[in-house]
Amino acid sequence: MSAEIISGKEISDQIYSLLAGRIENLTQKFGRPPGLAVVLVGDNPASQVYVRMKTKKCAELGVFSEEIRLNADASHAEVMRHVQELNQRTDIDGILVQLPLPVQCNEPEILNAIAPEKDVDGFHPVNVGNMLIGEPTFLPCTPYGVWYMLKASGHSPEGKHVVIVGRSNIVGKPIFAILCQKRAYANATVTMCHSRTANLPEITRQADILIAAIGSPEFVKKNMVKPGAVVIDVGINRVDDPSSQRGYKLVGDVDFDEVREVASAITPVPGGVGPMTIAMLLCNTVYSFERRNNVNDHLRIL
Ligand code: NDP
Repeated sequence: MSAEIISGKEISDQIYSLLAGRIENLTQKFGRPPGLAVVLVGDNPASQVYVRMKTKKCAELGVFSEEIRLNADASHAEVMRHVQELNQRTDIDGILVQLPLPVQCNEPEILNAIAPEKDVDGFHPVNVGNMLIGEPTFLPCTPYGVWYMLKASGHSPEGKHVVIVGRSNIVGKPIFAILCQKRAYANATVTMCHSRTANLPEITRQADILIAAIGSPEFVKKNMVKPGAVVIDVGINRVDDPSSQRGYKLVGDVDFDEVREVASAITPVPGGVGPMTIAMLLCNTVYSFERRNNVNDHLRIL
């Protein structure tokens, strides 16, 4: 058996097509486009790439975007000041502080300073709480993307046993919170695993849908997957590859070549969950704009 490939590239392109018309209409109706501000502190190469990709997508879709770039030695107070200014700006609907922040910045304090109604990354405790109790809110972009991929590819988690490997606040835990909700395209029985889980392969083999968010290259092997399972690989890992011009390649947390032989469907890396994250960020930004402008038929978040 060779698994169906669930393409995040294709699904995110469908989202962009839907968003483009919506953004054009909103801009005409309200006299300004949705606005997203990104605060980037320091020169972490991966963060720079992500911010560039976000800015490029905003430009393509007609979303106003502003990058605030601060030196790596920017003080905590300086970052806080920028966030507070952005909270007050009427042309900014979404604020994103690119993580990780340098050590002198108190990350939780800075994330908590973002106005919850502009927190398009969904990391503010108010939004995390709303997500957990199933109230409409911003969902963190990567978990939101995972949920959307399952829905769009026809693999509803309803009634299924979903096993998530990884319990981080930005990936594993929010996926858990989204998929266990009592609502359509959720209603899953969810098991969460981590580095202290005993007998991990025994548990992952029970999954109808297995989600890997570990940060360990090709960790999930064929013997950890039930035949016919749907496998979602959130991992993005750089591994040496002398045959490539840049000297490395990107692989997921799942051994794609092995696991595709037993799974019924699988996401590739790259081109799987990765492209969904920015698409969902733009959904959250449009949703924020619509909420702030009291649009009744706003973008449905779930
Ligand atoms: P973290 O390092 O924050 O969390 C990793 C989780 O995996 C932890 O809960 C850890 O357990 C668990 N884990 C580590 N080793 C094992 C093991 N041997 N067995 C079982 N569980 C284990 O990572 P993130 O959640 O931030 O990211 C996970 C992956 O997703 C990374 O590859 C990252 O690059 C990628 N990612 C991709 C995104 C995208 O846009 N596609 C966005 C964000 C992340 P414990 O808690 O016990 O330490």
